Amino acid sequence: MERPLNIGVLALQGAFREHGSVLRRLGAKVSEVRLPENLADLDGLVIPGGESTTIMHMARLYGLDDAIRQFREPVFGTCAGMIVLDREHLGLVDLEVDRNAYGRQVSSFEAEVELADGGPSLHGIFIRAPRIRELGPDIEVLAELDGEPVLVRDGRFLLSSFHPELTEDTRVHRLFLDMVEEAARVGA
Ligand code: GLN
Repeated sequence: MERPLNIGVLALQGAFREHGSVLRRLGAKVSEVRLPENLADLDGLVIPGGESTTIMHMARLYGLDDAIRQFREPVFGTCAGMIVLDREHLGLVDLEVDRNAYGRQVSSFEAEVELADGGPSLHGIFIRAPRIRELGPDIEVLAELDGEPVLVRDGRFLLSSFHPELTEDTRVHRLFLDMVEEAARVGA
């Protein structure tokens, strides 16, 4: 590859720094996105976990909601990032979720996530995670927890209900960078 992939991380609120450090470790150039013009020249975008209500509020304030709708490159949403991309928010991915829907009051936990490709399981950190309630017919399930989807792909969109940026396992970010590389090759 001639140049490093240029990945933006939406840096309005939440766990954006952690994504940045994983992506840099994997060789990407990372920039923080706070304004619509920061989306120019990116090869891909990450929408981190945090609080989806706050992220949506700030995105609207800065005009990033429409700018992200017009962004054409791969997008990876984790946790609140999954919620932001769903039918009821930016409307970019054909799924519906229930927010904070795992467990009881204290609904943060860690669990082994089974990969659909049969590879070694992933250690998933779930923090008040969204639970996928309905999934469009074209969405590919890449990993499950107790038979429910927790990592899915819809074309150029990758979504996880858990936080891969909080573990040492870089496989999910690697997968996203592969999607970005593939899209950059096709678009070149
Ligand atoms: N519960 C948060 C929300 O509803 C998501 C939590 C997270 O991103 N870790 O937006």
